[in-house]
Amino acid sequence: MPIRRTEAIILKTMKMGETSSLLTLYAREAGLLKLVAKGARKLKSRYGGLLQPLYVIEVIYYDKETRDLQFLSQASLVWAPRQAQSDIDRLGLCLACCEMILRLENEGHGNPAAYGLLRATLETFDQAETNIRPLFLAFQARLLELLGFSPGMNHCFHCQKQTIREGRYDFINGRLYCQSCMSLALQGQAVSQDMIDAYRELVRLPLSSVIKKAFPKGAIAGVYHFLHDFFRYHLEEVRQLNAIDVLKKLKTMQGEFSQV
Ligand SMILES: [Zn+2]
Repeated sequence: MPIRRTEAIILKTMKMGETSSLLTLYAREAGLLKLVAKGARKLKSRYGGLLQPLYVIEVIYYDKETRDLQFLSQASLVWAPRQAQSDIDRLGLCLACCEMILRLENEGHGNPAAYGLLRATLETFDQAETNIRPLFLAFQARLLELLGFSPGMNHCFHCQKQTIREGRYDFINGRLYCQSCMSLALQGQAVSQDMIDAYRELVRLPLSSVIKKAFPKGAIAGVYHFLHDFFRYHLEEVRQLNAIDVLKKLKTMQGEFSQV
């Protein structure tokens, strides 16, 4: 039975039996991974408080292919959030990022780039003093690119022109059209230059700059609605994230979110 060692982010934990936990991890090389942590909920567990969502740990586990669930052997802390655990907005958005990975990734496929994105995003959430909603949108837009669902926002689908003052987005086919070509789109919605520019910056800028940048008023709301519609048409599974629902119920965030 091979013993494996990997760095992984804890996406969620579930109670299992009397004293154990079932961990859903996003591992750097192995992708989604479920591990049973025996005795993790005992008062004097050898894992201490280590097995919590958003924590980055190094794990050693036994990998037996004939078994559905693998068993955790050892865990050590690599990184733990500080602010995200005490701030409900941040916590909700971090958990929503984890949930998107859970819904969009398949077990058994590693994606080190998406792993790096989630890890960097969680760390940036912890450092951010402002702009946590743009950061959440940056995560979503980048994840789409990394998982092969790019909405094609870099240029006009037809003439390839990059500068688009007024455009139209065909959600059914996932195509952006510039002003000169927009008659070719059989249907779609108007998209503004501010929104397109903000979208591109959310994908391109370092995350540490995303949390500092002053985006034009309305541009971030535009990206929020764009991504919401894109998910509705193409990725139904992430349209309504539980973590966001929970947040809305918990806080006055509903008003803020509908205006983001
Ligand atoms: Zn065009």
